Amino acid sequence: MTAEDAVPDADAAGLGALVASHIRDVPDFPSQGILFRDIMPLLADGPAFATAIDGMIAQHGPDGFDVVVGIEARGFLLAAAIAYATGVGVIPVRKAGKLPPHTVSTAYTLEYGEAVIEMHANTLHPAQRVLVVDDVLATGGTLEATLRLLEQVGAEVTGVSVILELADLGGRERIRPHEVQALLTV
Ligand code: AMP
Repeated sequence: MTAEDAVPDADAAGLGALVASHIRDVPDFPSQGILFRDIMPLLADGPAFATAIDGMIAQHGPDGFDVVVGIEARGFLLAAAIAYATGVGVIPVRKAGKLPPHTVSTAYTLEYGEAVIEMHANTLHPAQRVLVVDDVLATGGTLEATLRLLEQVGAEVTGVSVILELADLGGRERIRPHEVQALLTV
């Protein structure tokens, strides 16, 4: 199936509207004052999910990457679908302690405290072009840490993709010089 077959209105406006109509806003989750953007309705709707995945692939070109890195946990679902559709492999970036040895890790600052993310060492070949995928770009801290981890292992990141970008939180600026592609920016 080509992107055109599955995405009759694959233009940016069509994709943005599709995403907007399949995201559930949940006030005060997981804590008071957070407006949680739940992408699960998009994933639960087969044609909408396929259209979103095809749209993400089209933004980079099906030959624009050799492997997809997905960020725990919703990023795994998107990265696996993109990888399968394009015939490439998928590599998870996980919270500390979830992956068996040997791993590389990096720490980053959250609003309160620190977090550590990990990926398997020696899993990427130096010549592989990497697409990094997550569901939501908020402050950009998670993506920034992931990009640092990939830099640490000498990876060539050729694309960064999210379903939804929350523009007010400044994530896009935080991960420069990498450019992020979002199906919808609010
Ligand atoms: P950040 O590091 O601030 O860019 O946060 C990104 C990570 O947290 C992503 O993996 C998102 O899944 C999750 N996240 C942050 N804010 C939200 C939100 N308002 N709604 C849904 N997920 C969010």
